[in-house]
Amino acid sequence: MKTRTKHTYRTPIYHFTKNILVVCPNCEGKALVRAESLTEPKPEISKAKIICTSCGYNKTLENILKRKAEKQKSGNVLIFGAPVDPFFHLPVWLQAEFSGEVLWAYNLEHLDFLAAHVGAKLRERNGFQFNVKSIGARLPRWMTAAHNREAILKALTKLKEK
Ligand SMILES: [Zn+2]
Repeated sequence: MKTRTKHTYRTPIYHFTKNILVVCPNCEGKALVRAESLTEPKPEISKAKIICTSCGYNKTLENILKRKAEKQKSGNVLIFGAPVDPFFHLPVWLQAEFSGEVLWAYNLEHLDFLAAHVGAKLRERNGFQFNVKSIGARLPRWMTAAHNREAILKALTKLKEK
């Protein structure tokens, strides 16, 4: 799925939640959380799945919630805007500390998106105008602050190799 054209700046965060790289809860290696698109009218959240190719850990949210429900009667909350996957709340794999803040992305596509956005902000400063809406506009200020942009771009590039 490659949709990084002129729609880039209208991409909602949900676009990146279908494949999320996380820290495996079992071996602390790189695992994948797969979920249905949250842009579907009724996404089946309980079908979200953690898959770890290093240790073979493989569980759906349904499995986990069933076990949890026996101990405590609570449903599941989706979390956005934090360096955890929305479903299992596992720490995302792609994160790095940046001047006391956390730079993070759900996956490589998201990382590219952030780099494109921060890069666009750089170009904007040089006279180009961009209509920045959706998650682009919701990036934390420190990420798009002029004096940070080049360092952020470097950090994002470094994260890509993680
Ligand atoms: Zn594992």
